[in-house]
Amino acid sequence: MTQTIFEKIISRDIPAHIIYEDDLCIAFLDISPTAKGHTLVVPKQVYINIFDIDNGTFMHITSITKQLCEHICQRLSATGAHIVHNAGTSAEQVVPHFHMHIVPRYDDDEIKFWPSQKQQHDLVALAEVLRRT
Ligand code: 5GP
Repeated sequence: MTQTIFEKIISRDIPAHIIYEDDLCIAFLDISPTAKGHTLVVPKQVYINIFDIDNGTFMHITSITKQLCEHICQRLSATGAHIVHNAGTSAEQVVPHFHMHIVPRYDDDEIKFWPSQKQQHDLVALAEVLRRT
């Protein structure tokens, strides 16, 4: 089976700027950063996205993501951050190997990250459909 680009980073077949590694995951700088310190946190075992990762690995990844987010923001004097997971092509996922993005934000960085165009929906009906009992 074809390896993902992240598996090649994990096996050191291609280089990356690795900032953290443990038995279950690895974190490295995004090659095409949206902001200074943009980092990807990736499980060593391949899961495509949130729809197939197991709960234990997901919890470990989210815990490491929180720790690295605090660390990166402190080291780079970032004043905020986005934690992003793109799941599926409709959500613009490009690499089919689970990853969390840590995107640090800085005062006056002028990045437009969140869509300003909003939609209107029947929230009463939606909540009825979505409410879990
Ligand atoms: P996605 O759109 O799948 O959520 O994000 C994939 C991310 O992986 C992108 O931000 C892209 O810049 C990053 N990326 C793709 N190929 C490489 C690579 O070879 N090395 C590194 N460090 N990042 C990569």
